[in-house]
Amino acid sequence: MLEMHQESEYVIHHIQKLMAFFLSMRLFKLELETSGHHVYYQYITDALAKMPLEKRINDLIKKYNVQRFAYLEPDEYRLDQQLKAICGQLPISSSCYSTEHFIADRYTLKNKTSKSFVMEPFYRSMRVKHNVLMTAAGKPIGGTWNYDAENRKPLKTIPSTEPPITFKHDTKNVISDIKKAGLKFIGTPNNFHWPLSRKDALQALHHFITYRLPHFGTYQDHMILDDPFVFHALISFSLNVKHLNPIEVIRTAERALKSNPELYPLAAVEGFIRQILGWREYVRCIYWLQMPNYLKLNFFNHHAKLPQWYWTGSTKMKCMSESITQSLNLAYAHHIQRLMITGNFALLTGTHPDEVDNWYLGIYIDAIQWVELPNTRGMSQYADGGIMATKPYVSSGQYINGMSNYCKSCYYSVKQKTGEGACPFNSLYWNFIDRHQGLLKSNMRMQIPLANWNKTNIQTKIEVLEQAATYLKNIDSL
Ligand SMILES: Cc1cc2nc3c(=O)[nH]c(=O)nc-3n(C[C@H](O)[C@H](O)[C@H](O)COP(=O)(O)OP(=O)(O)OC[C@H]3O[C@@H](n4cnc5c(N)ncnc54)[C@H](O)[C@@H]3O)c2cc1C
Ligand code: SF4
Repeated sequence: MLEMHQESEYVIHHIQKLMAFFLSMRLFKLELETSGHHVYYQYITDALAKMPLEKRINDLIKKYNVQRFAYLEPDEYRLDQQLKAICGQLPISSSCYSTEHFIADRYTLKNKTSKSFVMEPFYRSMRVKHNVLMTAAGKPIGGTWNYDAENRKPLKTIPSTEPPITFKHDTKNVISDIKKAGLKFIGTPNNFHWPLSRKDALQALHHFITYRLPHFGTYQDHMILDDPFVFHALISFSLNVKHLNPIEVIRTAERALKSNPELYPLAAVEGFIRQILGWREYVRCIYWLQMPNYLKLNFFNHHAKLPQWYWTGSTKMKCMSESITQSLNLAYAHHIQRLMITGNFALLTGTHPDEVDNWYLGIYIDAIQWVELPNTRGMSQYADGGIMATKPYVSSGQYINGMSNYCKSCYYSVKQKTGEGACPFNSLYWNFIDRHQGLLKSNMRMQIPLANWNKTNIQTKIEVLEQAATYLKNIDSL
């Protein structure tokens, strides 16, 4: 097991992400040793940790007189290529094995001929193929495939429940190792409570299913001040590092529904399962279908940099300061914060997708390229021109006000489009529509905003565009 600079420096990571990976590896090493295995372990403070992977593998083969090299399919294209190249040069035989930690094959979407690959048909076919939430007659349980409509209700009173389970870890050594190794990082190491082993992960899953799953559906798109987790599961790290298998998570949720349908509404269970059987598997298939070209896509030809305050959270916009500060403190934001707050703002302000990718890939505990890239470049930035999303996920302040309580305590006024204190999302939204009319006009789902903009009187248009220009010019001081 190798802690390596190569894996710690391809982007500037959140310190909690570095801690979580190293500590999980170190705990697993102990577990293996306790059960009688011999483990070669390289710490990040070891001078050898700076050596390339090629050299380390070759040196270890010599040192231990290794007869055969076997590895598990890595999840990232970069590592996949690197390991294939290494194997091509090895003096011994090599083989690659599936991790058996995904439900769909990497290349499931390969034979599709359409230009766009929306998630819903993929999800339905996965439900049928793996018999998830299906009746004996082969119909979706409850008669409907997708209960999302029930999850988009405006924010109302939130029921109280147990907060997410937290785990205590001794972090002193790992923090000191990260600093000693000279790794750059963002964020703070405090409030570090992630599940770091198979045992922790199972506990986290069962805690979520018991206390939070019943409310997951209704509140999954809601954003609440000082409540970063709402009813989310906080299991993405455990899934991505393979402490949890996606199918076991799905079957656990299904069993909960079966055992107590009154406590676990079908809409909540279906909504949760869709995230894993649908979205998670689907984005992975998009990744393998599109790499490496996906890395270069920039449909809107955006070139701006992210404002400085993406690294500090110091902005007067409450929605942005809350989502960014929380991300820096916890290495976590839920999907609507990622999509409709930080992602929405980056898209409205014409940020280069590379900038956006690097920020997302660094800051979140669960950020690994196979899942980060399609979500960020595709879903959030529409840089793929609609391979994943049927429209760009942009909104004015009105949507944010409907789905959160952020606007109530914001410096800006969500009702104003122009003038002193007008919500920046409002003018930036219409500026985006105006600027990209040519590219958006053939998109059926953009017809209403385009029509609304076109019937806006010219004087109002000028004022809105001037307001947006002022905000874009002074973006670092918003
Ligand atoms: C711009 C953007 C970037 C993202 N980057 C990542 C990333 O780097 N790594 C990552 O794991 N997820 C990413 N997501 C998806 C999602 O935001 C996180 O999986 C989720 O917030 C993790 O928290 P949770 O476990 O509490 O999730 P919950 O909301 O409780 O959902 C349960 C599980 O469903 C899966 N899931 C939900 N949505 C998605 C999705 N869109 N794609 C893939 N899996 C999903 C996750 O495994 C998650 O743990 C991103 C989403 C967006 C919009
Ligand atoms: S008023 Fe605008 S900037 Fe402020 S929280 Fe609401 S949407 Fe965000």
